[in-house]
Amino acid sequence: MFNIAIDGPSGAGKSTVARKVAQSLGFVYVDTGAMYRAIGVHVMRCGLPTDDEQAVLSVLFDAKIELTYVNGEQRVLLNGEDVSVDIRLPEASMAASNVSAIPKVREYLFDLQKNMAAAKDCIMDGRDIGTVVLPEAQVKIFLTASAEERAKRRYIELQQRGTPVDYDELLAEIRQRDYNDSHRTTAPLKKAEDAVEIDSTNYSIDEIVAMILKIAEERR
Ligand code: C5P
Repeated sequence: MFNIAIDGPSGAGKSTVARKVAQSLGFVYVDTGAMYRAIGVHVMRCGLPTDDEQAVLSVLFDAKIELTYVNGEQRVLLNGEDVSVDIRLPEASMAASNVSAIPKVREYLFDLQKNMAAAKDCIMDGRDIGTVVLPEAQVKIFLTASAEERAKRRYIELQQRGTPVDYDELLAEIRQRDYNDSHRTTAPLKKAEDAVEIDSTNYSIDEIVAMILKIAEERR
């Protein structure tokens, strides 16, 4: 199988880029953040605090997470229910960041992610794909952008969706998540040694997609 790993902080454009690369190559796009989000939603629905390890572990194994594809669009199923909308709510972001720091949560999703990559040519995005989940991926990309640029993009995206937001709050939340993601002990966000780093601040989505397609072409 041909695997492309794409890691980086939240809001760098990973999912938009990965979706387009997948379309272009006829690959499956696997959004691992959506899996952590679904676990976060599950814990919140159980009425438990997402930053309490014991509480999270008490309900973790009741959460069956599946990714399915409807007309090429990824849908996330939590115990058979489509939670693709719920996992994008702002509270789900912090919940995902919290549960993702728990090693057992990562182990639980690791197998699922590994199996998906072994079954199909795919582009998988996340924080630890090139370093931990698919260290043997043929292509590894580390996509970054400044925190301000990422907050601005997220602000525009949420406004377009009609969700009222405050820019400063978004920026603070992005900084907090960056800190959490890069300082946790298990699988912190970090560039794999053999990953190609792309700073998306000054490139359009299409330019980045073209760069990745070129790298994939060379390695195929
Ligand atoms: O990518 P997204 O912002 O949807 O991910 C939500 C959260 O899930 C991230 O803030 C991060 O804490 C966590 N995550 C992770 N490892 C991954 C993907 C996401 O820890 N591979």
